[in-house]
Amino acid sequence: MNCDTFLACMHPYVDGELGVSDTVAADTHAAECPRCRSVTARERAFRQLLRSQPRETAPPELRRRIVTRIRRSSRAAALRPWLALPAAAAVAALLAVTLLPLTERPARGVVAELVDKHIAFAQLERPAEFVSADRRAVGAWFLERAGLSVSVPDYSPAGIRLVGARIADVRGRRAAYILYEKGRTLLSVFVAPASGEGDLVGARVTYRGQVYVTRVQKGYRTVAWTEGGVVFGLVSMLDDEALLECADRLRDERARQTRL
Ligand SMILES: [Zn+2]
Repeated sequence: MNCDTFLACMHPYVDGELGVSDTVAADTHAAECPRCRSVTARERAFRQLLRSQPRETAPPELRRRIVTRIRRSSRAAALRPWLALPAAAAVAALLAVTLLPLTERPARGVVAELVDKHIAFAQLERPAEFVSADRRAVGAWFLERAGLSVSVPDYSPAGIRLVGARIADVRGRRAAYILYEKGRTLLSVFVAPASGEGDLVGARVTYRGQVYVTRVQKGYRTVAWTEGGVVFGLVSMLDDEALLECADRLRDERARQTRL
């Protein structure tokens, strides 16, 4: 995917309406192209702004103004046919701007986005861009590829095998995606920049003295937490206890690396 093809599908991409392979192609391009990444971030911010608008129908005063403009422009069109097109276009644009907030869907939390990515990646023949069971190699790949310093925990004692890694686009920012598997069950670990408060929606659970937010989304279990401006999210069909244990080990690993 290049910039042109990316921008052509940017809107459905932001809305999560692209198919699996297009989403992955767009993710990959956004991860590599700062320009498209910033365009996407702006688009997301814009939508966020629209979502935060009041959802009532257009107030009577506004409706009256729109109707007046439509009447005026059709009258103008009758008098000056060459004005008809731009005037009609202006009214259409005004209506679109007015009506958009009413039809926008509610904001999706970051965890919902991670679950969608987990599902999308799981359908790929090669979910990992970089295939390696070597934790150090995966860590080095993130650093070299995206400048991300990521702790890659060892879950092999629990029979969870490291498969590889990928750079994902989460909320228009580059995120690390680490893929594990236990038998045929995938475990996705996302490490993404936190985009603000209220990101994590779900049940608060304390495990080994740490607080996590857990949630079931589309049949997948998720465990997430934020730490130092970074959001960590685990997505899998594994049970809660296994996920919490994996989360705890990831925290351990990070703490250990920070100490070194
Ligand atoms: Zn681009």
